[in-house]
Amino acid sequence: MAQLTNQSVFLPFALPDIGEEEIDEVVDSLRSGWITTGPKTKRFEQSFAEFLGGDVQAIAVNSATAGLHLAVEALGIGPGDEVITTVHTFTATAEIIRYMGADPVFVDIDPNTYCIDPEKVRKAITAKTKAIIPVHYAGLAAPMDEILQLGADYGLAIVEDAAHAIPTTHRGRLIGSLPSDVTVFSFYATKPLATGEGGMVVTRNPDIAKRCRVMRLHGIDRDAFDRYTSKRPSWYYEVVAPGFKYNMTDLAAALGIQQLKKALRFQKSRERIAARYLEAFSELPLRLPPLPTNGDMHSWHLFPVQLDDSALVDRDEFIARMAEHAIGCSVHYRPLHLHPYWRDTYSLKPEQFPCATRICERLVSLPIYSRMTEEDQSRVIGSVREILS
Ligand SMILES: *Cc1c(COP(=O)(O)O)cnc(C)c1O
Repeated sequence: MAQLTNQSVFLPFALPDIGEEEIDEVVDSLRSGWITTGPKTKRFEQSFAEFLGGDVQAIAVNSATAGLHLAVEALGIGPGDEVITTVHTFTATAEIIRYMGADPVFVDIDPNTYCIDPEKVRKAITAKTKAIIPVHYAGLAAPMDEILQLGADYGLAIVEDAAHAIPTTHRGRLIGSLPSDVTVFSFYATKPLATGEGGMVVTRNPDIAKRCRVMRLHGIDRDAFDRYTSKRPSWYYEVVAPGFKYNMTDLAAALGIQQLKKALRFQKSRERIAARYLEAFSELPLRLPPLPTNGDMHSWHLFPVQLDDSALVDRDEFIARMAEHAIGCSVHYRPLHLHPYWRDTYSLKPEQFPCATRICERLVSLPIYSRMTEEDQSRVIGSVREILS
């Protein structure tokens, strides 16, 4: 059998960073008998709220998709309503609008941030608009000053899709602590903090928090009865709405509790990798990812580069060549207007989204995660250089 060289060991595009602390915490849950929502979920919610500065409520759910759905449900968005969002995102950002029977109104991105363009948002506002859902793409904060101002000017709710953005700051404040209505984080396996599946809804609005808690578990309101009697039997509950099954398990929360403690350390590792890539690729025929301004923190969930037209290979060839070098790459995203469901349902044309359309043909995400060794990083750098020069 041929000897395995390091070169032939496949470097995946993403890997969660799970240590002994996470394993011990999960084992502790398994031994405790609490395997679904229980004390660890509560602890995870409390530590998450503290991480964001303490004056928010955090509601743990089983995915960010579930969290985004709860957010638009709590905001009362329904048939006939419009919600403005970006095409340069994962389909979950928009599908939750359809869950409510409302319609997404898609706008293009700003080519300098790859985030939603606030000027284009303003032009898309109609009498039916109820909310805006910006995405902090790759972990760079969306232009929240402008978006929050639009919300205030037009009376629109702001729901941040922060699936990539922990920890990310905007003007020195962590995403999740800005004055938007709701912020939703993802703990999917590839995200900056991973619990396998999981998400967190964050809000300062007590009514939204209450509604999300009730709708997260079958529309069951355990507090309704509490208010009227102190002699609540332990088996008693009231169903006040046709809710969902979106609760987080204590097994996932056990992972989350330990992952959260490492959030800043993970970010530092990814930031160091990003710094190496930025320097190593500066002379290559590609466009480096947009950078934060004002000294803000980028979570560096993704490292998306745009290949120049003058590059020797096109994007698909580049990804194939990287695979030959045993390195996994990905594309974030094929924008929503190119997917059959969104294209056909809303008669979307590529010309309506010139920036997202142009970028997506050239975009490739390189591996960037805390478990990458310096040698892994050097392999990526060496391969990118070899393929492009
Ligand atoms: C991953 C992701 C989601 C969905 O997260 P889940 O936890 O998998 O439901 C939503 N929006 C964006 C931008 C994402 O990357």
